[in-house]
Amino acid sequence: MSFPRAFLQDLQDRLVLSDIIGSRVKGTRAGREFKACCPFHKEKTPSFTINNEKGFYHCFGCGAHGDAIKFVQEHDNLSFMETIELLAAQAGMQVPQQTPEDRQKAEEQKTLYDLIEAVTAFYEKTLSSHREAYSYLTNRGLSNETIKMFRLGYAPSDGRAV
Ligand code: ZN
Repeated sequence: MSFPRAFLQDLQDRLVLSDIIGSRVKGTRAGREFKACCPFHKEKTPSFTINNEKGFYHCFGCGAHGDAIKFVQEHDNLSFMETIELLAAQAGMQVPQQTPEDRQKAEEQKTLYDLIEAVTAFYEKTLSSHREAYSYLTNRGLSNETIKMFRLGYAPSDGRAV
């Protein structure tokens, strides 16, 4: 499901992140940010920060990170569509209706993303099982984190890898 970029931007602009999160998690103001106990992992001292200016939250404990849409989607366990509808209603906005063409385009895009994801995962897996390729990268100074973050992979040269 896709929405016009302008609509999503407008929606984000109207949402106050600390209000959205504050209605679900108890937070306290800390300077220009807000702090709370992270709802995505168990903790006693707050390492979850909310930055309204930047429009995102970040947890220093478990690395949870995202914007209002992602927070509601994950916290309330909703689909992307349900989240948009909920937040748009809260912001007093109309969710743009999709034409059948839009829907078809979104469907094709999704298929492509799924394909890219499958291919990426395959190359990642191949890299982790090819010691030589892996040490090539670490010898070039890339850390495990970097390799993971950029999802580096390895394409075997035999042309019929499975
Ligand atoms: Zn956390």
